[in-house]
Amino acid sequence: MSASNDASHNTAPLTIPVTETTSGPNPFITAQQQLDQAARIIGLDPAAHELLRSPLRELHLTMPVKMDSGQTKIFHGFRVQYNDARGPNKGGIRFHPDESIDTVRALAAWMTWKTAVMDIPLGGSKGGVICDPKALSPSELERLSRAYIRQAGRILGPDTDIPAPDVYTSPQIMAWMLDEYCAMHKKNRFGVITGKPIALGGSAGRGDATARGGIFCVREAAEALGLNLSGARAAIQGYGNAGSNAHKLAAELLGMKVIAVSDSKGCIYNPEGFAFPALNAYKKQTGSVAGFPGSAPISNSELLELDVAVLFPAALESVITAQNAPDIRAKIVAELANGPTTPEADTILYNKGVILIPDLLCNAGGVTVSYFEMVQNAYGYYWEEDEVHRRLEKKMKTAFRAVQQTAQSYKVHNRLAAYIVAIQRVAEAMKLRGWV
Ligand code: NAD
Repeated sequence: MSASNDASHNTAPLTIPVTETTSGPNPFITAQQQLDQAARIIGLDPAAHELLRSPLRELHLTMPVKMDSGQTKIFHGFRVQYNDARGPNKGGIRFHPDESIDTVRALAAWMTWKTAVMDIPLGGSKGGVICDPKALSPSELERLSRAYIRQAGRILGPDTDIPAPDVYTSPQIMAWMLDEYCAMHKKNRFGVITGKPIALGGSAGRGDATARGGIFCVREAAEALGLNLSGARAAIQGYGNAGSNAHKLAAELLGMKVIAVSDSKGCIYNPEGFAFPALNAYKKQTGSVAGFPGSAPISNSELLELDVAVLFPAALESVITAQNAPDIRAKIVAELANGPTTPEADTILYNKGVILIPDLLCNAGGVTVSYFEMVQNAYGYYWEEDEVHRRLEKKMKTAFRAVQQTAQSYKVHNRLAAYIVAIQRVAEAMKLRGWV
């Protein structure tokens, strides 16, 4: 790697053609631009840069599935193995009507950077099926999950590529997929998939691992700022797996007061803070946080702009933008969601002195405990929950400090620093292998 290569980055290297998207920015182009920016700063070798702009392999699948009506329906899907220089590919499978090859390519690239930032010995991949899972019966969903594995199972394996749940796929779907894979290979191979139910080789502590990893990062960031979080206020956008567990753990581990939360049906505020058990039970009972007794309704933009110590975006992409970033008053923005902040907003927050903990790092607790699950499957020996928590905390702290030190030495914001850490690690592995 040498800074003298800068001129070669003026022209983007040739890469695989991207497909058209009907709405919004093409996520794969965004992923390539993020790579280009970090590559320019570190003066990445041009061949390494070109190699990292495209997935190493992709499989396009066509799957016949018998529907409950007796008719056969044809589904299409993908598995993209982005880069396995640092170890077997790792990445979830999404079932979504808007799934596209470029979304899967982008997510596979981000998995490559996430495993590298966490310094876990894995590469990055992602899979997807174009379908509306809400319109499928449980038995149709099972047949589709098994059909996916009959096709993609040829390139999956504990030493090659390990899927996990993602949007609209669940531990039950992982269990069907595992069973199909074991049937294909005529033996139990628990390590081929993670996010499994505990009764089928899943890991203790996987359920809240994403939020827990984010909370460990927040604690590190507060320490760096000299900020006392005990009794300090937090707001959470999104009250699903990541957001609701962030509420529980922000209260339990940091002593914080969560004063605003939202979900797709509403947004609520109480300056005294919400008790997790009561709000969680209410959401489970009614399906939403909206209307929780003692709360006042506020708008989503009001939630984002509250005067809090920590803001957790835990729902959607692109919610902190150039328009609202100047009004964000949080001292720490902890990205549990993937992609909640636009590049323009990154710069605005950085210049305002807001500490942003980027998604690559902040929500990497999930993939880290998935890695622990693989390790336990390989050993056939399972850890107690407190051991999982202890090991996760150590990994998160180490990764946080690597990003923080890189941000300081390159004088860049934390997101760019996370990319720099990741890309340097993947490039080093490719160089050692003699690929570039
Ligand atoms: P989830 O489906 O469990 O929860 C999503 C929540 O967001 C729901 O409460 C939903 O009502 C809410 N929501 C949807 N639209 C909203 C809106 N307009 N305003 C406010 N809230 C809205 O999903 P999750 O697993 O918690 O994932 C949330 C984010 O975290 C996603 O970006 C996901 O990619 C990311 N993430 C999750 C994990 C994980 O392990 N769960 C790991 C890494 C990243």
